[in-house]
Amino acid sequence: LLAINKSLAEVDEIDLYDYYDKLNFNDSLDILIKKLTSEVFYILFQNRVLMMKFNQMISDVLEYEKNSRIPEELKMLIRKDGCLKRKNIPKWVKRAVFFRDKGCCVLCHKDLTNLINTNNQENYDHIVPLSQHGFNDISNIQLLCKECNQINKKDKSAQTSDKYYSWYDELY
Ligand SMILES: [Zn+2]
Repeated sequence: LLAINKSLAEVDEIDLYDYYDKLNFNDSLDILIKKLTSEVFYILFQNRVLMMKFNQMISDVLEYEKNSRIPEELKMLIRKDGCLKRKNIPKWVKRAVFFRDKGCCVLCHKDLTNLINTNNQENYDHIVPLSQHGFNDISNIQLLCKECNQINKKDKSAQTSDKYYSWYDELY
């Protein structure tokens, strides 16, 4: 660590606490945390399967807790069965998900950009359904076509795809 003129091998616990205090004292820690959070989210958000697993983990907690430990002021967000109420998906979430999923249905890969075919409708789907204690969160939303969304709604289980468009084709 350059700030205390020691190599990483020489650093002990007290040095780390001192370094942490220095960062905390001049707001550098807040800046560092914001930057790290933004970078980590950028990487993780690309991986739909990871997002599904993450949301399943959180939904298990919500299901287990039911309404027991939810603060009174947040209870208006929860239905009687313990699931979250449906909320309109904000435009910024739709734009981010559309961009991540490259304007194609995650399950059947139908083009939803409206550049070639204006009949294909974009649908924003909860990966872990609200009825399965899913969350209204950007990490739990994916792009589907109308047909896949209807099939998915009947199925009521968490479903996504790990197929991603390649950045390049090795054959060329
Ligand atoms: Zn589809």
